[in-house]
Amino acid sequence: MIYRQSESVGGIMSKVIGIDLGTTNSCVAVLEADVPTVITNSEGYRTTPSVVAFSKDGSRLVGDIAKRQAAANADRTIFSIKRHMGTDYRKKIDGKKYSPQEISAMILRKLKNDAEQFTGEQVTDAVITVPAYFNDAERQATKDAGRIAGLNVLRIINEPTAAALAYGLDNGQPQKILVYDLGGGTFDVSVIEIGDQVIEVLATSGDNHLGGDDFDERIVNFLVEQFKETDGINLTKDTAAMQRLREEAEKAKKELSSAMNANINLPFIAMTKSGPHHMDINITRSLFESMTADLIDRTVTPVENALHDAGLKKTDINMVLLVGGSTRIPAVQEKVRRICGIEPSRNLNPDECVAMGAAVQGGKLGGQLTAGSAASEIILMDVTPLSLSIETVGGIASRLIERNTTIPTRHSQIFTTAGNFQTSVDIKVFQGERKFTRDNKLLGNFRLSGIKKALAGTPQIEVTFDIDANGIVNVSAKDLGTGHEQSITITSSSNMSEEEIERAKWEAEVYGSKDAEKQDIVNLRIEAGQLLQNTEYMLHEHRKDWDKQTKKQVKEACQRLSKAIGRSTPEKIDEVTASNICEAKDYLENTLSRMGI
Ligand code: AMP
Repeated sequence: MIYRQSESVGGIMSKVIGIDLGTTNSCVAVLEADVPTVITNSEGYRTTPSVVAFSKDGSRLVGDIAKRQAAANADRTIFSIKRHMGTDYRKKIDGKKYSPQEISAMILRKLKNDAEQFTGEQVTDAVITVPAYFNDAERQATKDAGRIAGLNVLRIINEPTAAALAYGLDNGQPQKILVYDLGGGTFDVSVIEIGDQVIEVLATSGDNHLGGDDFDERIVNFLVEQFKETDGINLTKDTAAMQRLREEAEKAKKELSSAMNANINLPFIAMTKSGPHHMDINITRSLFESMTADLIDRTVTPVENALHDAGLKKTDINMVLLVGGSTRIPAVQEKVRRICGIEPSRNLNPDECVAMGAAVQGGKLGGQLTAGSAASEIILMDVTPLSLSIETVGGIASRLIERNTTIPTRHSQIFTTAGNFQTSVDIKVFQGERKFTRDNKLLGNFRLSGIKKALAGTPQIEVTFDIDANGIVNVSAKDLGTGHEQSITITSSSNMSEEEIERAKWEAEVYGSKDAEKQDIVNLRIEAGQLLQNTEYMLHEHRKDWDKQTKKQVKEACQRLSKAIGRSTPEKIDEVTASNICEAKDYLENTLSRMGI
């Protein structure tokens, strides 16, 4: 790829992209003349499925291509990796274990490449969004994924805050809004005050394991049970069949947002000695609603908590913004109407507004907004979603920073020794709202060492916990006796070490170039197939009005392309075939243009 010379060469930053790294779909936007613009990906779509696949020939596929081949390659296709961010989960492929950060980095890398193609510039800086309710490990993992993808992550911002920023740009009058964000895998609610040039998050709450995927799963379970009853076959052991079920379930769910019925028709879903079995099941909207009512109910308490923490009643809310694809479900909208008592706004595109808000924040951080423009004046004040505590005697979580504190924030505490001549102390840091540390998330341990030998209780060590603008926790320590600063790193088992990140970054760079080539080949095969199909259709349509010579030449060019494509598929294609296809495709295109078709 050829880049327009990057502005960063001259000391000015190149464009900063805003990325909504979603559970199901991702979206990327950039500022163009102060206006956030959604970037169309290389397949021509405005959102990219957050799906990664490892094809059998060792290449990696990301986005639509990965999603399309999922049923045929279910074991090696990864969906919803965001649900595992910040955990020890590893996906094993061909003997190598991939962390959620590495898989997410593959998605980010594609988004980065698409943005480079779109802007014609090299892209290095990004703002990435996360659910407001993400804890420290999940945020850190997202930042690391960005680094592995070769991105300099300027800021991690919360998805609902980004949506409010996109909304606030056009609707700057003072108001209090509630952002209800139900995506593919997470639910977030934020109460936000849009003031005169200040967007202040008052409170946030949510559920990191609730989203559209759960709705799909309910339909899948229903289909599995029905099929067991009618055909006596348990489909759960068949990964390919389950993948087809999942795809159809999601399709049916989406259909049910506008229709009252959806039909699930899956021919040849199973094969037994008695022959093939087909699935043909009808789901009504009311059946779907009864299957998923409890999922929607789970959003009520977080909404109430956020309102309570913001010190507001539902009647104080002027506007409810719906964000995330799952808010298209009519029963979800009905529930929001009921809990908030007002009609939710449909002003923003729920799939795109988060990336757009991130692009605005990126433009601000990158100094790319015109001075005096509406967006340049806006100040964003976010909060930490979860309290920070340390473990004290009896496993009690002693709070240092309360949830919904405006970030960045810091808090210091003096520690000392419990035993005589003790030279080190171990401290455990937790995040969460529960009273006992065992019920909260352990962010990590650190050891304060190098304490001067003294009687118990004499050393005074000031430990400072701060939460930066990304919502990420940092810790530092100072021996007040000597004034000596100690450096402390929180070590969390679920996140990657510095060396692991560097190695993954290197691997991603090596693979990145190979994957880009592979992606081009796959696209070529798809385009060639479409061209052939369209031309054959035209040949048939114009069989009466095209002259013999034209028909002969077009037919011949079609045959040539058809032969080149041979038995290849978009997912399985070698370089020789690709070069033959390229040549035959050019030949057909030239023939058509020579004929004026
Ligand atoms: P997001 O993470 O915001 O991209 O949301 C993706 C989720 O929204 C996925 O679970 C989709 O299946 C779901 N979704 C998208 N469109 C619709 C629709 N029309 N009706 C119901 N769910 C939808």
